[in-house]
Amino acid sequence: MDKYTDLRDTFIEIDLNAISDNTKAIRNMVGPDVAITAVVKANGYGHGAVEIAETLIEAGVTYLALATLSEALEIREVYPDYPLFIMGHTPDRLLHYVVNENIAQTVFSYEQAEIISRLAVETGKTARIHIKVDTGFHRLGKEPDEAYFDEVMKINKLPGIELEGIFSHLALASAADDQLQFSKFTEFYKKLEAAGCKFRYHHIADSIACVDYPQFRLNMVRPGAIIYGMVGYKDTAALSIRQALKFRSAISQIHHLEIGDGVSYDFDWRAEKPSIVATIPFGYADGYPRAMMGKGYVTIRGIKCPLVGIPCMDQCFADVTDVPGVSEGDEAVIYGDGPNEMTIAEAAKLAGSNKNEIIARLMDRPKRKYIK
Ligand SMILES: *Cc1c(COP(=O)(O)O)cnc(C)c1O
Repeated sequence: MDKYTDLRDTFIEIDLNAISDNTKAIRNMVGPDVAITAVVKANGYGHGAVEIAETLIEAGVTYLALATLSEALEIREVYPDYPLFIMGHTPDRLLHYVVNENIAQTVFSYEQAEIISRLAVETGKTARIHIKVDTGFHRLGKEPDEAYFDEVMKINKLPGIELEGIFSHLALASAADDQLQFSKFTEFYKKLEAAGCKFRYHHIADSIACVDYPQFRLNMVRPGAIIYGMVGYKDTAALSIRQALKFRSAISQIHHLEIGDGVSYDFDWRAEKPSIVATIPFGYADGYPRAMMGKGYVTIRGIKCPLVGIPCMDQCFADVTDVPGVSEGDEAVIYGDGPNEMTIAEAAKLAGSNKNEIIARLMDRPKRKYIK
């Protein structure tokens, strides 16, 4: 936490107990034999990857997973020993970082594996890699065909490398498509293992798959969204979680408007009756979607107050005419999970986005405060 945390009324509150309880609920659901890789890419989906890491480690996750090298190195500085896994691609010229910093790396070519192997041998280390299989998503990995089988078998012979895992990712297009992807994946690694290429972890399940398809958990799952309390899965009886994040601000000024008075750029909104409008110091530079125009609201004194006018970079406007006793300094809840508060799920719907995007795009400017 930095020294500027308390210099603004606009901030993001992270409930570490919610993150801990959600993670323990996932552990309960998957049982003791399935390893949990907690996905903390994109700054822990906006929650602060470094700051929530300790809570996740205490809750017993096996791995922290990142999308990029820079994200992994940021955590590595604070946690010199904890298992870290990069699910994305790391360019050849940067592979020495993953070897030196003991970070497990996603690999899908013999060329990359050979570089990693050479670096590991040079430094006397064992580099851990996870082989990526493309079962249809066409993002990373190669198709599970004969050529890739031979390539992985060749990687398996390289010195200084441990093929710790093999994984794929579901498109979640339909139950039938998911099943097909899953079958391609399991057939491929079983064939490799029958030929002597063993993996400690097999994994394909993200948050949704991990809840809705228990049979896809194998011996490792990669939940992201559900760690933070985002419900996207269908089987809501299987897992009970809660939103960890609240986004709060406070009224900086109150304006009394006459009929016809405009608000914000272009006077896009005008008062149709004598109105009270509050200026609140949050905007799109905090990660609040401008697409919320005409749809968003904040909650003041428990009452939903519609946003009016175009959201600015640093300030928004709410119609507070119906809030008894409304005053400058009153708290305005932007995202929350209390009565009349906008949840991340609702924000996603109103902004025409998805939950992960709403939280991942929260900027650094609204400082995070952690409660425990
Ligand atoms: C982001 C990501 C996840 C986590 O996804 P959620 O839907 O947030 O659970 C899992 N696996 C991979 C490869 C990812 O990129």
